[in-house]
Amino acid sequence: MTNSSKNPRILVIYTGGTIGMIRNTETGALTPFNFDALYRHIPILETFNCLIESYSFDPLIDSSNMKPAFWIKLAEVIEENYNHYDGFVVLHGTDTMAYTASVLSFMLENLNKPVVFTGSQLPMGMIRTDGRENFINAIEIAAAYENGKPIIPEVCICFENNIMRGNRTNKFNAENFNAFLSGNYPLLAQVGVHIKYFNQNILTPKSGGLKVHKKLDQSVAILKLFPGITENVVQSILSIKGLKAVILETYGAGNAPTDSWFINSLSDAISSGIVIFNVTQCKGGSVEMGKYETSIHLESIGVVGGYDITTESAIGKAMYLLGEEYNGEELKRLLQTPLRGELTVE
Ligand code: ASP
Repeated sequence: MTNSSKNPRILVIYTGGTIGMIRNTETGALTPFNFDALYRHIPILETFNCLIESYSFDPLIDSSNMKPAFWIKLAEVIEENYNHYDGFVVLHGTDTMAYTASVLSFMLENLNKPVVFTGSQLPMGMIRTDGRENFINAIEIAAAYENGKPIIPEVCICFENNIMRGNRTNKFNAENFNAFLSGNYPLLAQVGVHIKYFNQNILTPKSGGLKVHKKLDQSVAILKLFPGITENVVQSILSIKGLKAVILETYGAGNAPTDSWFINSLSDAISSGIVIFNVTQCKGGSVEMGKYETSIHLESIGVVGGYDITTESAIGKAMYLLGEEYNGEELKRLLQTPLRGELTVE
């Protein structure tokens, strides 16, 4: 409705996390920010030519408590407000932001407006906070339209001047302001004196209206390899009742031990209908099954290669596809197909 208007309307959705905390002047304790007083806290926002409104979750959560039910509620808030706003800024704790941004990208099919996630390492109410800058940048990205069209019609993360495709990110630093990495995909935009948009990296909007997928199937597990992993550990995971998909975090270009107990365990799980999705533990680069002898066997027993997808994105994609009741060969095919720019097929 509003995407050609001069003054974009932005909905700020506060889910919880450090960014929304300010210090109570009487008690000294950190307490959640009152968004009704947004302009009092960040008066510069009044100079933006956009209308900012807010929605706060109740209760607010530390993102370590994030759950699929919350993702569904978040997707619903966006769906209910989709036609009334030009862009959305989601304030979220940094700990699981990459997971939420990833899964939301799958849940919001045909997204044609910016959904910009941001947060901070220091609370908004602290003098050196990174929250203020992240927040202002996120608003500007969410409000950025050209010729009536959003410049970044994607789920993205805006953090420390970098705008990244959400489903390509992971949190890689618990200390630095530069906390998020997009190891396998270039930036969508970068904030400096000017905001530079890298149009060639941004998804072209899909036609058709927004379709929100609200069924997520949690019958998934992550199995991370390490030297010394025992048969007991592998078996315990693969024998979980009702398990449908396993994200197998392998070494390097998708390599794994060649011990027969290991291969047989995976092979039995695959024969019983469990899909095994091979994702690398590396923060950059791609799974290439068959490149080394230590991955040929994975390919031959039917492990599905995940190319350069992140673990965060793989788990969200698996929950989404299983929720949509895909299985068998179609599930495998879709896991390997880029649906929202989350992987690159070499
Ligand atoms: N534990 C917090 C959270 O993820 C950290 C943060 O807000 O960045 O919610």
